[in-house]
Amino acid sequence: MKAIVIGAGIGGMSAAIALEKAGFDTAVFEAVKEMKPVGAAISIWPNGVKCLNALGMKEPLRALGGNMAFMAYNDAHSGSTLTRFSMKPLVQQVGEYPYPVARAELQAMLIDTYGRSRISFGKRVTQVEQTEHGVTAWFDDGSQAEGDFLIAADGTHSVIRHYVLGESVERRYAGYVNWNGLVTIDEAIAPADQWTTFVGEGKRVSLMPVSDNRFYFFFDVPLPKGLPEDRATLKNDLKGYFSGWAEPVQRLIERLNPETTNRVEIHDIEPFSRFVKGRVALLGDAAHSTTPDIGQGGCAAMEDAVVLAQTLASHSLGIEDALLRYEARRVERTKDLVLKARKRCDVTHAKDAEVTAAWYADLKNETGERVLAGMCDTIEGGPLG
Ligand code: FAD
Repeated sequence: MKAIVIGAGIGGMSAAIALEKAGFDTAVFEAVKEMKPVGAAISIWPNGVKCLNALGMKEPLRALGGNMAFMAYNDAHSGSTLTRFSMKPLVQQVGEYPYPVARAELQAMLIDTYGRSRISFGKRVTQVEQTEHGVTAWFDDGSQAEGDFLIAADGTHSVIRHYVLGESVERRYAGYVNWNGLVTIDEAIAPADQWTTFVGEGKRVSLMPVSDNRFYFFFDVPLPKGLPEDRATLKNDLKGYFSGWAEPVQRLIERLNPETTNRVEIHDIEPFSRFVKGRVALLGDAAHSTTPDIGQGGCAAMEDAVVLAQTLASHSLGIEDALLRYEARRVERTKDLVLKARKRCDVTHAKDAEVTAAWYADLKNETGERVLAGMCDTIEGGPLG
């Protein structure tokens, strides 16, 4: 049995590795000639970590992960701590650590695990077709590939999604812009072993440790879509948006490198419930696109990969039946993640100013119990518990 996997992102690579482990032949086709992930880093929560562990990447992943021993929210202007607590209870409950990792390193780990030379780069799929025996994918260079089934992990702008759904879906602008990058850890900005977030005015500035003494940082600002983007003004833009914010935030803006800082207008897609058409299955952002507000988009793609391989490995009623079982196991879970993230997004970014003000007030009384319980609930809803 041979799978054609479209896209060599987190989803496609996780799927290809999972399928190979389950005994399938795979061929991976990626549109770009060289991978340049859009974000600087990503937090892999224990549900995602467990999937990568199961796919044989336990040790390399640990080497890439930062030590997020504590979590804290600070007031935007005074910089004072609103709440700070240990992440230990979360690790104890779910049985695994969360790992913030640099995205390029995660991507390299996945690609190297699979085998870089085995991936066909510069192959942009334009069309897929299927018969009752197999699938064919056509690429923009006129070539084609054939397999028994096809996994479409071609991301949030998926071209195969339209084929599966029979209609186009619009991405929804979530109302805020995110800037993200990496800087050397500076304890005058935040403690080295802590996920620190400054909150106020519906904006946030967040820092997570990754390996090699670096912070993954991001800034969120509620803004209209389509504003001009210019690296030359990036620092001044941030200084304006964060005028009056505490000294560590100003220091971070001074320290960051505008040339390697990404600017992303955040979107999601209204959840839909069809991931499969015959022998073609959507996976990762192609199937469910979320805002990054609970850090679960990539983790969900890893979960998809593990479930896909499980259902295919144990199928006896044929590929199409197995893919429908994959869909049945993933639709509700991923819908839940997208809607949870959207809810969190709205509170964080002051969609309703009163609700956000109440959240800021609540943070002063937060012992960590409620925040961690919510995270554990999300994590334990994954396929590996
Ligand atoms: P992608 O990563 O988009 O990969 C799709 C691949 O398919 C790309 O390589 C693309 O070039 C290729 N492709 C596209 N079209 C074609 C085509 N026609 N033919 C062939 N190849 C094609 N998730 C987390 O779990 N934790 C986080 O902390 C987190 N933070 C985030 C922060 C930000 C700012 C953003 C924007 C997202 C964040 N995410 C996070 C979400 C995560 O990045 C995505 O969910 C994840 O990258 C999805 O992986 P994917 O493989 O499905 O899609």
